[in-house]
Amino acid sequence: MKIDLVIDGQRCAPSDNQYEPLIGPVTPDQLAEVAVATHEDVQRAVSAAQAAFDRDRITAKQRSDIMLRTAQLLLDHADELADLIVMEVGKTLRESRGEVKTASDAFFSMAGEALRIRGVTLDGDATTATKDFNISVIREAAGPVCAMTAYNAPLNQVCYKVGMAFAAGCPVVIKPSPFTPMVSSRAIDLLVEAGMPSGWINFVTGGAEVGQALFENPHFARYAFTGSRTVGDILVRSVGLRRSLLELGSNAPNIVHKGADLGLAARALTSAGFAIAGQVCMRPQRILVHEDAYDGFVVELLKCVEAVKVGDPRDPETDMGPVRTEASAARIVDWVKQAEHSGARILAGGTHEGCYVAPTVVAGVRTDDLVSCEEIFGPVLVLSTYRHLDDAIAEANASKYGLQSAIFTTDLHIAREATRRLRSGGVVINNASRMRTALVPFGGAKDSGLGREGGLWGVEEFTEVKVVYDYFGP
Ligand code: NAD
Repeated sequence: MKIDLVIDGQRCAPSDNQYEPLIGPVTPDQLAEVAVATHEDVQRAVSAAQAAFDRDRITAKQRSDIMLRTAQLLLDHADELADLIVMEVGKTLRESRGEVKTASDAFFSMAGEALRIRGVTLDGDATTATKDFNISVIREAAGPVCAMTAYNAPLNQVCYKVGMAFAAGCPVVIKPSPFTPMVSSRAIDLLVEAGMPSGWINFVTGGAEVGQALFENPHFARYAFTGSRTVGDILVRSVGLRRSLLELGSNAPNIVHKGADLGLAARALTSAGFAIAGQVCMRPQRILVHEDAYDGFVVELLKCVEAVKVGDPRDPETDMGPVRTEASAARIVDWVKQAEHSGARILAGGTHEGCYVAPTVVAGVRTDDLVSCEEIFGPVLVLSTYRHLDDAIAEANASKYGLQSAIFTTDLHIAREATRRLRSGGVVINNASRMRTALVPFGGAKDSGLGREGGLWGVEEFTEVKVVYDYFGP
């Protein structure tokens, strides 16, 4: 398979004809040859997006119809897309099929939001200066958008970003993760098949250098980025005053309070904690358990963890596949071993074979151990205990991150208290912190990001507010 660029509606080779081999985590075979865009290609893609924005007027109804058709095309091609995700990410077949459905949901949802962009009208006579004016506050498409994605949900992230930007009326230049160009490339084909006009979706592939060229290009009105905090930081420093929507990492706290349904908590935390081999931004990482519930919870949790079937992600029976690279697997296990050296106990796992990391549970960690204070982005749950809810909240909030958090409790007052005090973009009650839908805003407090994806909130990130003063005379 050869993966080319898409610029101004045309598939094309990079200007210097340079390609890189793509190897996935499942087999040693070469999966594809992937174009490496040059600075010239990046500039052509940006110019195509700018020209499309200046030239075309695509009504909200037309944008919505294109997205409805794309949503359906994604479902029609579900098996093919899921197979690509399995091979390039290492996600299980079940997870990959799930990703196709949520990616399709994102377009169905954004097709509706495209029809709801709205402003407000005010009577100017509320102030002396404007007493002879009607005032309208309207929202307009911001301009060309640069979208850049991470490797762990390669179809979803493309569909969310293109969906929100296009709903707002913005053309896009998208760069997928160099680890996962195959499924995003197919998504671009389906958008074109659904009627996306030339120049409205441009696709450039490559790594950090192509990313940096996009950050430095002065013609983007908005950046929509999913990835690590480190690269998010580089983006903000590079793009200066231009607005960016950043979806970054986390080390989500999940609290298990005394009296909670421990079986439910153990099942939910296992399922969410080891999904995509732990490579999920909002997955539970730090599990804070009330002292009175700790022993019972550990028994339930270890039962669930032992039952996780690790293996070939193509096998429909597999629960957990590999992480994306062997280097990630080694780094994850190294962090676990470092915690063990400083006094932590490994209750399960703690090893890897190639890209396959054993589902791991660590207890008794220090808050400054990397497995606790940094985002591990691997299949590791870190247990600690607390006596009072105040202590749990303080520990949960003592992180630079704040994407999502969760509390398991049957006490309504405790649930409300925790919800109010947890500093994160979302709180889940009686399920794990891995929860998201395209209907509502998703994003992080603190270093977990800037802005929100999803629903009308997400679409508005790609608009500019304009005020119109309409004079009607004295
Ligand atoms: P990454 O930051 O390494 O890469 C993300 C993108 O940035 C890729 O397209 C990559 O090519 C590009 N890039 C890398 N270095 C660059 C540089 N120096 N200059 C310009 N561009 C550069 O992230 P990753 O490893 O692919 O993904 C994992 C991270 O993504 C985790 O931190 C995870 O939590 C986060 N994530 C967040 C969300 C969310 O919605 N909050 C969702 C998924 C993943």
